[in-house]
Amino acid sequence: MDKTYQALYRVWRPKTFSEMVGQEAVRKTLRSQVKAGRIAHAYLFCGSRGTGKTSAAKIMARAINCLDPRDGDPCGECESCRTILADQSLDVYEMDAASNSRVEEIRDLLEKVDYPPQFGRYKVYIIDEVHMLSNSAFNALLKTLEEPPEYMVFILATTEPQKLLPTILSRCQRFDFGRIGEDEIAGRLREAVDRAGAEADDEALTYIARAAEGGMRDAFSILDMCMGTGERITEASVRTSLGSADRESLMELAGHIAASDAAGALKSVDRVMREGWDVQVFLKDLTALFRQLAAIALCGKDSADKDAERMAALAERFTTRRLMRVMEIMMKAEGDTRWASSARSVLEIAVLSACEKAAGGDLNALVERLAELEKEVETLRREGVALPARDAGDGKAQAAPAAPKQEARRRPLTENEVWKKAMKLLQEKAPMVFGLVNAEVYGGCVGHEYRIRLLPGGAEKKIMEENNTVEIVNNCLWEAGDPEARFEILVEGSRENTEWEKQLEKNEKTLADLVGRDKLIVVD
Ligand SMILES: [Zn+2]
Repeated sequence: MDKTYQALYRVWRPKTFSEMVGQEAVRKTLRSQVKAGRIAHAYLFCGSRGTGKTSAAKIMARAINCLDPRDGDPCGECESCRTILADQSLDVYEMDAASNSRVEEIRDLLEKVDYPPQFGRYKVYIIDEVHMLSNSAFNALLKTLEEPPEYMVFILATTEPQKLLPTILSRCQRFDFGRIGEDEIAGRLREAVDRAGAEADDEALTYIARAAEGGMRDAFSILDMCMGTGERITEASVRTSLGSADRESLMELAGHIAASDAAGALKSVDRVMREGWDVQVFLKDLTALFRQLAAIALCGKDSADKDAERMAALAERFTTRRLMRVMEIMMKAEGDTRWASSARSVLEIAVLSACEKAAGGDLNALVERLAELEKEVETLRREGVALPARDAGDGKAQAAPAAPKQEARRRPLTENEVWKKAMKLLQEKAPMVFGLVNAEVYGGCVGHEYRIRLLPGGAEKKIMEENNTVEIVNNCLWEAGDPEARFEILVEGSRENTEWEKQLEKNEKTLADLVGRDKLIVVD
């Protein structure tokens, strides 16, 4: 690599809306605003890292000042475009609130608001990670947002919109930048590889796209790392660069889990660890493998996969219920490794509990064992073993659901009991949603409001929203015996969460006053 080497994501940073990857709706709306000259005073670009927020902000800043815009895109050639591209414009300011969150700096910036643009039509302030601004800096910004001069345009970008005050949100036009699709990312990587005269397998690029989790910048960084060697990029070489296990090891481990062979599974783990794989990455890969297996079990085999036959055979060895349970175990373990002193122990415990066939006498375990038996019977039947004809069934077996209602009438359930019961219902009705909810921390209940807490990042929250989690969990809570229940998702560290903790504490105090602190029993 010579000295002039530029990171791929810089080289490939889009200069027009048309060059951006993904974000169809955002691009279309912004372009039509530029074309119609309907520019808002404040924009809020929300989305996880690497989804193109800052690039879009820069393009917007050029487009609205361009002397010769083309179909809503900046021309890139006029004096205004060239000055802004060279970072020499006095009309476009960019600021990263993560490093400049002090109030003086934002005040400095806001003091200049009163001076009209020197050259262009608009003065544009781009504030990155705006949620990091201190409270007083926020207030200063808010004041300006109340009555901005005609020429002023603010573009605020954030990965955590839930941390912004409603007063800011209400003054901005909000654009949500979704995670970019794997195909789109892989496509752009292919262009970059070809342009650089490098060689890469399609599977390798797909693997990078998947590992980047919807962020174009991360994808380019991984590709950069892989291209450094100068050799052909293969899935195996990408895995090595990322510290992830090869698929062979993952499939071998999954095979041991299918056979409930704990000793074999631990041996696989030991080998993988001795080869120096990262525990968290390994768990992530394992979860991804089981997700693929679940998809195969539900939708049939993926013919684009070179291991399609073997994957299908592997999926065949699990019931859907068990696949969901293993996924849950792995997802939870992935979270647990963040706090555990020994990540490896977390991995081993997870693998051991995945090996265990559903144990215990509770309903879930029985249902899972029943599903296993049904699957075995089905396999035998397919293999031509003569079995007595299937019982047509007279409906007697389905007449049970009257019992829980009687139980509810006898004694009202406590909030914790309602939650536990709702989780059981959820596990049966929507195992995927159950997996999502149970990977997080239950935040307790105050006055019919049941909450879970997410670690910051916002990604899970989005997945939950996409899966109608709130609605589904509410239904389960109602069915579990609390008709006024409301389910909410809190983000750890957010303002709402702090308020919630105060409320919980207050609630606990009231309870303690009622029964005396010593007698306060926490129903688990
Ligand atoms: Zn221009």
